[in-house]
Amino acid sequence: MAGKPGEFDLISTYFAPLTGDAPGAFGLADDAAVIAPPAGMEVAVTTDAMVAGVHFLADDPADAVAAKLLAVNLSDLAAMGAEPHAYTLATAWPRGIQPAWIEAFAGGLKAAQEAGGIVLVGGDTVATAGPMTLSLTAFGFVPPGEALRRGSAKPGERVYVSGSIGDAALGLRLLLAEIGAGCDAADRARLIGRYRQPTPRNALGVALRGLASSAIDISDGLAVDLGHVAAGADVDIDIDAAAIPLSEAARRLVAQEPDCAGYLYAGDDYELAFTAPPSADPALRDLTRRLDLPITAIGEVTAPAGAAGTVRVLDGTGAEIDTGGAGYRHF
Ligand SMILES: [Mg+2]
Repeated sequence: MAGKPGEFDLISTYFAPLTGDAPGAFGLADDAAVIAPPAGMEVAVTTDAMVAGVHFLADDPADAVAAKLLAVNLSDLAAMGAEPHAYTLATAWPRGIQPAWIEAFAGGLKAAQEAGGIVLVGGDTVATAGPMTLSLTAFGFVPPGEALRRGSAKPGERVYVSGSIGDAALGLRLLLAEIGAGCDAADRARLIGRYRQPTPRNALGVALRGLASSAIDISDGLAVDLGHVAAGADVDIDIDAAAIPLSEAARRLVAQEPDCAGYLYAGDDYELAFTAPPSADPALRDLTRRLDLPITAIGEVTAPAGAAGTVRVLDGTGAEIDTGGAGYRHF
């Protein structure tokens, strides 16, 4: 059909170039890709899907949607300490989607995969009568037994996070015009950028192998995700709210609108949260310098007081802050 590219045209025009001529991708022209792990390495696999209107806004720019889709999967590899290698992509495009949107989407993938050190090796493209649905599966390599798991935190260890927390959740509420009447344009752009295009922490994840006792990436919310770490290890976790690292933009916004502090626990950060013994502190300080990435101690792992798996967020007086079970709930 003239002017209306079919599935194979879309793949050869926009997606085959994203293989970077990876040998096992066969130019996206065979039935499956072949992945050759380096000798002795294990393969870490993760899949994350995004649905328009649920995980991104229907009018978010196509290149940002693509970058976020790849970033959330790279973030899961980071949380396992795996080095990114390749990904497959399944897209369900709404009927009538413009080729220009798909072209911009592929452009966003190209930029994000170059930054992330990963290439496309396969996938599928279908049409849907429902909202746009995008699913990406990422493959990474990790030495046997060195993957960072969730369930190995021990009492007496510290809890750390990378980067800054809360920017993305504030950015989303700015986009929805729920907050931020007094927020200036530069801060708005920074916070919205953190919502639309998170930065996966892959170099940190790899560097934490052998250093962190457990790790998770913060997608659903700081307290909720640390709850998985605590439950998995049969421990409790105490967080010092004042220690949670905020960006300058988030700090200014929370100062203007104190209620915004609740969004610090609302997720979409794609920072790493991890536990490590106090003896790891010097190595973590070195890492901060080498990676030019803040790593902040925000709390500690404690022996369970009752049923294990409790995360308490405490203010400066030691009183518990009610985060309202804040965090993203899928169902
Ligand atoms: Mg995750």
